[in-house]
Amino acid sequence: MTISRTGARVERQPLSRYTTLGVGGEAEVWFVSGLEQLAEAMEQPYRVLGGGSNLVIADQGVPERVIRLSGALAERDLEADPALSTAEEIVTGWVGGGVPLPGLVRTLQKMGLSNLEGTVGIPGQVGGSVWMNAGTRFGEMFDGLHTIEIVSPGGVRQVTPDDLAWGYRDSGIPRNHVVSRVRLKLRRADPADVLAKMEHADQARKGQPKNKTPGCAFKNPVLPDGQKVSAGRLIDEAGLKGTQIGQARIAPEHGNFIVNLGGAAAADVHALLDLIRQRVGMPLELEYELWPERP
Ligand SMILES: Cc1cc2nc3c(=O)[nH]c(=O)nc-3n(C[C@H](O)[C@H](O)[C@H](O)COP(=O)(O)OP(=O)(O)OC[C@H]3O[C@@H](n4cnc5c(N)ncnc54)[C@H](O)[C@@H]3O)c2cc1C
Repeated sequence: MTISRTGARVERQPLSRYTTLGVGGEAEVWFVSGLEQLAEAMEQPYRVLGGGSNLVIADQGVPERVIRLSGALAERDLEADPALSTAEEIVTGWVGGGVPLPGLVRTLQKMGLSNLEGTVGIPGQVGGSVWMNAGTRFGEMFDGLHTIEIVSPGGVRQVTPDDLAWGYRDSGIPRNHVVSRVRLKLRRADPADVLAKMEHADQARKGQPKNKTPGCAFKNPVLPDGQKVSAGRLIDEAGLKGTQIGQARIAPEHGNFIVNLGGAAAADVHALLDLIRQRVGMPLELEYELWPERP
């Protein structure tokens, strides 16, 4: 372990400990707790890792620095800012990009603050989830954002959602621009009502496997006539549910999930993804990211 010029902790570590799939080789991890350290980490080629819940990282790891937001960039100030809040609309203090989303959503519910409950069950961090505007059919990250702080090698800027070309599962923020902190925009609500909405949204996850996974493997393809087809159904119809390579398996509960039975290699997951693509009779676009990228 070394300490960088500006005080970031730098350590070679297996990335498997930071992914929900539990897979990934080593890289030089930069734990940055402030904007100065973040700027230093960006002086060389880098990637930014959030909750690792949308990633399959290769067994050989990645050659770039891997940035993890920690310390002050993983803390949250949920006090209403009196200068920006009204009786109905609450604008919070800063919430670090490294804050885990599930705990935040639960805390907001208990505080009787609404707007982000539709993201319940998404196991990412705030920064990663804002970057991809994660969500469900019950709501998405951009339902509850007031200000977004974005850091790139070019500097720091604070923007509002209106400044970004955001849309479905897309914030419009360029890759490798880091969401360091956000201010949330929330509504006062009865905690029981917020909880009821969360429970309703959670119901939709009933069929999902409980094992280690990076979530859905493929996007639902769109047919030439504009109709969406379920990728899970296509995988099921190809007879692939339950197929296992090494310690990775296509979940028997839901064909669009690949799970780690314990000790899976990224190569096993890649092999299953390739097999699905060969056997399903139409092009499938990956939902999660592969590090490094593969064709
Ligand atoms: C069981 C399960 C269920 C899921 N359900 C859903 C769902 O319902 N809806 C949904 O949208 N997603 C879902 N996902 C996918 C995933 O949880 C989300 O996409 C999540 O928002 C990813 O955030 P993360 O912090 O884990 O990002 P990571 O997986 O760490 O990274 C994903 C991408 O975000 C970038 N990134 C990470 N942090 C930052 C940052 N601070 N600033 C800028 N870029 C950053 C990374 O560089 C990478 O490109 C699910 C995943 C699992 C495992």
